Amino acid sequence: MARRAQYCFLCGRAETMFVSIGPDAAVCVRCIRALNAAADSVIARQRSRAEPEPWVLPRPAEIKAFLDQYVIGQEHAKRRVALSVYQHYRRLQLLDQGQTDVELEKSNILMIGPTGTGKTLIARTLAKFLKVPFAIADATTLTEAGYVGEDVENVLTRLVVAADGDIKAAERGIVYIDEIDKIARKSESPSITRDVSGEGVQQALLKIIEGTMATLPPLGGRKHPQANQEQIDTTHILFICGGAFEGLEKIIQDRISKKGGIGFTGRPPGQDQRMEVLTEDLLKYGLIPELIGRLPIIVTLDPLDEDALVDILVKPRNSLIKQFSRYFEMEGARLTVSEEALRRIAREALAKKIGARGLRAILERLFEDVLFELPGQGAGSVYHLGEDLVVRRIERAA
Ligand code: ADP
Repeated sequence: MARRAQYCFLCGRAETMFVSIGPDAAVCVRCIRALNAAADSVIARQRSRAEPEPWVLPRPAEIKAFLDQYVIGQEHAKRRVALSVYQHYRRLQLLDQGQTDVELEKSNILMIGPTGTGKTLIARTLAKFLKVPFAIADATTLTEAGYVGEDVENVLTRLVVAADGDIKAAERGIVYIDEIDKIARKSESPSITRDVSGEGVQQALLKIIEGTMATLPPLGGRKHPQANQEQIDTTHILFICGGAFEGLEKIIQDRISKKGGIGFTGRPPGQDQRMEVLTEDLLKYGLIPELIGRLPIIVTLDPLDEDALVDILVKPRNSLIKQFSRYFEMEGARLTVSEEALRRIAREALAKKIGARGLRAILERLFEDVLFELPGQGAGSVYHLGEDLVVRRIERAA
């Protein structure tokens, strides 16, 4: 009989835990661990050295088709955004190829629509599909440099972080600025005194949207004169701004009725009755003309109705119901949900007036108890969510 090895074949130490590698040889567990770690880092280094795959710009229809997998409805917005994002990156491709006569201006986008209807989702999904760095800023937290709050440039730092520190990649990224309507100035005429909350921030934003060499503030802190200050060129960063613009409809209607137009668009019934937003409406709302000029693509998003909310629960690739079903599957159980239950959940979210945003919280509440009990005892079971259960839970929470 072969004698069991007493000493590690590699390090020579006498160890108690071995893995046999032959009749007379064994390697200790410590050495195996060390080798594993070394192997992982060699593989990682090799991968990072490998040539990156050439970046292929998808066609507008492909961009739209990808958006369709995640964003329900909003057909017009998805089409328009897909087109202008394509044009933006196509222009950059041509510039990279040395075609400096491409004098097309950057087409930043303004998305107007009620809260929770998919504005951020569209921007985020686009960036994911195009594999470009993406960062979000909330306009209400931004201030001009020197005031209490977040410097406008902080969003650029976040973009660089999203690009794993690669400034060149960040310079081709997408920035989403939420709640742009909340920094509208309060009166139409330019203020004589400085308006910290609105106009100043618009001016600061305008600078980075137009394109400038901006100094990157260090993460989590204000600019420090001694800090190693890196610069980023914002010329080719695509900016997408979004806001609910409550009250804008009234401005549009006033304009139309003053000009003697009929209905919303003046188009015959059956055609798209969406109100057309003109730059003069935005000016009246309180955006400064320079900023409006830099957001040439205006798209409007529709409010989500019950049918759309039901679709959002089940249809997107990572829909909420699919996600909750996974929790059940993980415990060997199965979830079924009735159509009536879905409708009841949608109506509950509708009543909250926060678009699709309320759906997740409702589901969390509905499934909390069962998911708490499921691990260890749910294997093989089927959990059915019917309308009665939804009603009972909602009434209990009220
Ligand atoms: P906002 O329009 O306020 O930016 P979001 O895009 O952040 O709203 O939407 C909030 C959440 O609601 C999203 O993360 C998504 O789960 C869901 N949602 C909103 N609109 C849609 C939509 N049209 N299709 C699918 N999911 C949506």
